Amino acid sequence: MSDYRIETKCVQGGYTPGNGEPRQIPIIQSTTFKYATSEDMGKLFDLEASGYFYTRLQNPTNDSVAAKICELEGGTAAMLTSSGQAASFYSVFNIASCGDHVVSSSTIYGGTYNLFAVTMKKMGIEFTFVSPDCTEEELNAAFQPNTKAVFGETIANPALTVLDIEKFAKVAHAHGVPLIIDNTFATPVGCRPFEWGADIVTHSTTKYMDGHGAAVGGCIVDSGKFDWMAHADKFPGLCTPDDSYHGITYAERFGKEGAFITKATAQLMRDFGSIQSPQNAFYLNLGLESLHVRMKRHCENGLAIAKFLEANDKIDWVTYPGLESDKYYSLAQKYLPNGSCGVVSFGVKGGRKAAEEFMKKLKLIAIETHVADARSCCLHPASATHRQMNDAELEACGITANLVRLSCGLENAEDLIADIQQALGE
Ligand SMILES: *Cc1c(COP(=O)(O)O)cnc(C)c1O
Repeated sequence: MSDYRIETKCVQGGYTPGNGEPRQIPIIQSTTFKYATSEDMGKLFDLEASGYFYTRLQNPTNDSVAAKICELEGGTAAMLTSSGQAASFYSVFNIASCGDHVVSSSTIYGGTYNLFAVTMKKMGIEFTFVSPDCTEEELNAAFQPNTKAVFGETIANPALTVLDIEKFAKVAHAHGVPLIIDNTFATPVGCRPFEWGADIVTHSTTKYMDGHGAAVGGCIVDSGKFDWMAHADKFPGLCTPDDSYHGITYAERFGKEGAFITKATAQLMRDFGSIQSPQNAFYLNLGLESLHVRMKRHCENGLAIAKFLEANDKIDWVTYPGLESDKYYSLAQKYLPNGSCGVVSFGVKGGRKAAEEFMKKLKLIAIETHVADARSCCLHPASATHRQMNDAELEACGITANLVRLSCGLENAEDLIADIQQALGE
């Protein structure tokens, strides 16, 4: 599939049926797998043969869908997780443990911020949050001897900042650590972070990839480029024998291409079990088959509505990386030349109250804790996803109290604009 263009990979990647086999990816709804001898199964446990033994760790349906996402991102190995949160957690916890440190962009998804700043902190992992707009010097200054990774989002949810991936990758590599990019909002149709130096990509597949609000899920993809052995002192979990897994040294046995995902499967999936159900993986694949078609429309609707809002005098400000007036326009032109996403943030004049009033009057656009599916929806982060944050923390994430996050679906843009107009009292 690697010779084909991204649209073709969306439709046919990851799964090639043999003669007389199902055209659609089969849902292998089985917890376990049968073997003729104990020796056969023993080889699987020793990771000497590849195959399946228990769906808490791996399932063939999931692996076909993960293989498609791997092809879309241009990686070497991938795994599905039960949610985007699980993907974010695994991506960091696979290489950082108690006593370690991670540098993260401050404009990240609220759930990820909480995972890092509160829950993983309790596990003894410290995070330093930096502005996505920081200079190389400021980014350098955030590193410590125990720093194990750098994390950021291509397009941040909901702040809509665009990360200078090349700059972050360059600094991360100068310190001998990988750059992990959450590519949920851009999707590989819009941006492939590996082409700009990122090492690991994560997704909440719940968003555009599924695209229909049907199945929660996540994915981790490895570029296969980061040389763990060259920094073996920093990554003992990959570069020294794993006593909990028959003394395997992942980076030796599976190389740059396979070590990260094999360890995350053999160790983290085994112990935490945050696997996606095969049924959900099937739904995810249906979404992926039209991802390239849908992203084009999401981006067109996003731009049309951002332009309408920008010209409306009841609107205080609009943030959309595709607007020429946007602070991130030039970065978006570089990293997202075919369109950014369908999510637009704006402030309604009159502050928090006016924003809440406006949202109440919408008819077609629903209030939901969700983004990035076929139906348009909106949210007031300060009173929903980010409500555990104080004003200073909100500000650091690029969020104001009157921010409305609007996720433009696949409807007719003129109908969406008419709904916004009536809700503004026009
Ligand atoms: C939604 C989201 C997540 C979390 O994903 P879930 O599937 O809801 O667990 C992580 N990152 C980003 C950018 C998101 O939008």
